[in-house]
Amino acid sequence: MIEPKAELLINYQTIQENVSYLKSLLSPLTSFMAIIKANAYGHSLEKFVIELDALVDGYGVVRLEEAISIRKISSKPVLLMQGLYSEEGFQIAANNNFFLTVHHSSQLELAKKFNSSLSLWLKFNTGMNRLGFDISDQTGLNYFNLEKNCLMSHLACADIPQEQMNQQQFALFNELSRCFDKTKKSILNSAGILHFPEYGFDWVRCGIGMYGGLPNKYLRTAMTLRSKIIAIKTLKRGQRIGYGGRYTATENKTIAVIYCGYADGYPQTAIDGTRVLINSKECSILGRVSMDLLTVDITDRSGIKEGDWAELWSSENSISSISSYNNLISYELMTKVTSRVVKKN
Ligand SMILES: *Cc1c(COP(=O)(O)O)cnc(C)c1O
Repeated sequence: MIEPKAELLINYQTIQENVSYLKSLLSPLTSFMAIIKANAYGHSLEKFVIELDALVDGYGVVRLEEAISIRKISSKPVLLMQGLYSEEGFQIAANNNFFLTVHHSSQLELAKKFNSSLSLWLKFNTGMNRLGFDISDQTGLNYFNLEKNCLMSHLACADIPQEQMNQQQFALFNELSRCFDKTKKSILNSAGILHFPEYGFDWVRCGIGMYGGLPNKYLRTAMTLRSKIIAIKTLKRGQRIGYGGRYTATENKTIAVIYCGYADGYPQTAIDGTRVLINSKECSILGRVSMDLLTVDITDRSGIKEGDWAELWSSENSISSISSYNNLISYELMTKVTSRVVKKN
């Protein structure tokens, strides 16, 4: 080894187990769409499709190039969740048998033209107020009320089950369903599957749960971000550490310096106490994370030496606890691992 480098390892078996658990919550009649936008949330889109194709019923992405990459490997349904925006785009979708979301009036003329050759997913706004038609548009859209099409909406607060917004969105979705009595239906994301599995309808759209990014004891983090200890130091009582001297030692401390920083995708804002696992021992960050390095308290942790691996997150050091401890979301941590990190499997 010429130099140590931060490494990213993906355990696809863990993803398979997470998917099996999530599917076990749903009716066997509900189809499972694996959401693999943003390079499968950082888990490598191509490898994901190869490893998971037998277990899922289709894929959801946001970019055309992602859909085309999937089509080279799998013949299963692929949904473009934000649709396409030109005749050329619709034609490519038809040629590749992609499902296409229609969320905006500017897409309607094209959608009508391709209504016989494409599966169209009509997106309605039930409270998220980001994308989608309003409820009042429903009667003007009944030419899409066909069995091959799908009615879709997206939950804003599925991770907070007691939020009244959830029931309001379900109520509006049910109201819409009466108008679109022939189409398929889809509203749940991962948190929705955990908290409201009875609304699974025809398709669920599951992303973060498959990767183990939700706080749930049956879902495990599939991604390991790790790097090596390149120095061990002692910090005397009263000495401070790193930029800004954020932490002052209240007693003598032993500090491990890890070869990983925010330029690898570890959050610069990580606070003191954030958990790092070294030789299966719980340790915690002390001092500000810098570009290439971070510093960890290993006082009284015996047997830790230079060259040992430190797990910044992994199945034993869950990414959802790292993110919630820091007021971040696991989605962001997963998708921000940078290109200089070595990808291994
Ligand atoms: C990203 C996305 C999902 C998946 O959400 P998770 O919280 O990762 O399960 C579902 N539906 C739409 C429209 C999305 O954009």
